[in-house]
Amino acid sequence: MKFRELAKILDALERTSSRLQMIAILKGLFLKTPPEVIDKVALIITGKLYPEFREKDLGIGEKLTMRAISEAYNVPLSVVESLYKKLGDLGRVAEELCKRRKRQASSFIIDVIEEPLTVDEVRKTLDKIADISGEGAIEKKIRLLAGLLSRAEPNEAKHIVRLVLRRMRLGVAESTVLEALADAFLGAREYKELLERAYYVYPDIGYIAKVVATEGREGIMKIRPQLGIPIKMMLAHRAQDLKEIFLKVGRPAAFEYKYDGERAQIHVFKDGTVKIFSRHLEDITAQYPDIVEGIRKALEGHEAIVEGEIVAYDPDTDELRPFQELMRRKRKYEIERVIEEIPVRIYLFDLIYLDGEPLLDTPYNKRRELLENTVKPNERVTFAERIVTDDVKEAENFFHKSIADGCEGIMAKKLDSPYQAGVRGRLWIKYKRDYHYELSDTVDLVVVGAFMGRGRRAGTYGALLMAAYDKETDTFKTVCKLGSGFTDEDLQKLPKMLEPYKVDHKPARVESELVPDVRFLPAVVAEVAAAEITRSPIHTCYREKLGTGLALRFPRFVRRREDKGPEDATTCEELYQMFLSQRKKKIIES
Ligand code: AMP
Repeated sequence: MKFRELAKILDALERTSSRLQMIAILKGLFLKTPPEVIDKVALIITGKLYPEFREKDLGIGEKLTMRAISEAYNVPLSVVESLYKKLGDLGRVAEELCKRRKRQASSFIIDVIEEPLTVDEVRKTLDKIADISGEGAIEKKIRLLAGLLSRAEPNEAKHIVRLVLRRMRLGVAESTVLEALADAFLGAREYKELLERAYYVYPDIGYIAKVVATEGREGIMKIRPQLGIPIKMMLAHRAQDLKEIFLKVGRPAAFEYKYDGERAQIHVFKDGTVKIFSRHLEDITAQYPDIVEGIRKALEGHEAIVEGEIVAYDPDTDELRPFQELMRRKRKYEIERVIEEIPVRIYLFDLIYLDGEPLLDTPYNKRRELLENTVKPNERVTFAERIVTDDVKEAENFFHKSIADGCEGIMAKKLDSPYQAGVRGRLWIKYKRDYHYELSDTVDLVVVGAFMGRGRRAGTYGALLMAAYDKETDTFKTVCKLGSGFTDEDLQKLPKMLEPYKVDHKPARVESELVPDVRFLPAVVAEVAAAEITRSPIHTCYREKLGTGLALRFPRFVRRREDKGPEDATTCEELYQMFLSQRKKKIIES
């Protein structure tokens, strides 16, 4: 497949403001893409070269890309730099310089006949760039990239540069691609769910595209969990009180401590190899050599996939430390020294694969029993504290105990529930401290725009436009302007942090009535506290069902949630539920 065919589609996707049109374009693309490259094409569409768990660093940042552009188009680096200052996007810089070179060539009547680039060739060259290391690696990487750019058409150059820098700016999410694949190969967009389920078990959009294109529905139905391929993690709903929890998950129910650390899914191979994946499916094994060692011992002789929360603790008192301590450890480079300074432990709560058997459909209670019978706990590895009860009072005491022990609250789990990969269902319910002690709870929202600052904030953003995720329509709907809670340092960092997601038109999946000064693709998630949820005529969250939108009153920035993607943000439905229960509480109080 010629890369120029793909580049044309990428241009069309970049221009469209309609999600349905986006799906139609993608369907057309998939139907004409040869199966040998459909995996690569599906990844590129989502702005990636590799799935998260196989992510490779190309070792080329902005600086080296500028050098490659300068080499490819035979212009001084200073020209590239000043054009970049003007255009703010190196992709467009490459496009512009490529056009100029072509104009020059034609005015000198030089016929430059280049073989058109193919998708396969582009991808292989980028693989090569990623794999080069050792002496002279940088020069070789630059030369390879410059080689590609010098043969590219202007719009091809733009997309290659954006791909290298991982800034595709298309706003196409995996779920959009899955919907288009269902339409193209299973006959209707409605079959997306089938693909989604397979994708949650094998979260590589390229692999799913290839299987559905070559083997159809049958191939998809055969996809099973595999050691080394992280499964999308099961997530929890929230509840406002314990009685509500019992109504949702039945009586009796299991209650576990909700630890405040980092979720980890750990794959253990027979030969003792251990791989740790984050909630975002990134391979984070290298950050936790102590957990690797502990898990290896705890599961010796087994093949398994277990899940738990990694938490920092105080070696003197054995008390749990707050989440920020764990983050401090993650930021440091000298892992060996930090292991002693900030020791961690994993509290296991699930077992989803054991010795060749996937356990996704095994009831939770049975999985927990198997977990306890298989794992031999040690200093680094233990089980999440839990009780099984049908008594509200007992559950409440357990909640207070969890808070006293340094946890965030509790997690209720339905006893006979399967492990629903990637689903935020009603089988796991979180009940956090915030509900108990404050009227309001924090929510996680996505940045979709910014308003320029004035006075002290001149030169940076004064407020961000924040949105919740509407799962039903796969769109982001605004709920507030967020201007307080930021430190001066946070404020200074905002423009640079958001720069990679900047776009010059309303992204297809964002629904906003307010027009911000700068728009962003939904990518960055922040935790936000607020006084209450109110009705609002200017925000779009839940508007089609309620008549008016929902908004947060007095929102305050708490922290960035780097561990969450835009689709993990609080949903419009969740906000609506919070809105309803807040009203109920007010009526009771009055
Ligand atoms: P939240 O991040 O607020 O949506 O809460 C869900 C997260 O709680 C999970 O992704 C885990 O990282 C964490 N967690 C802590 N303890 C448990 C537990 N016992 N069971 C499941 N998740 C837990």
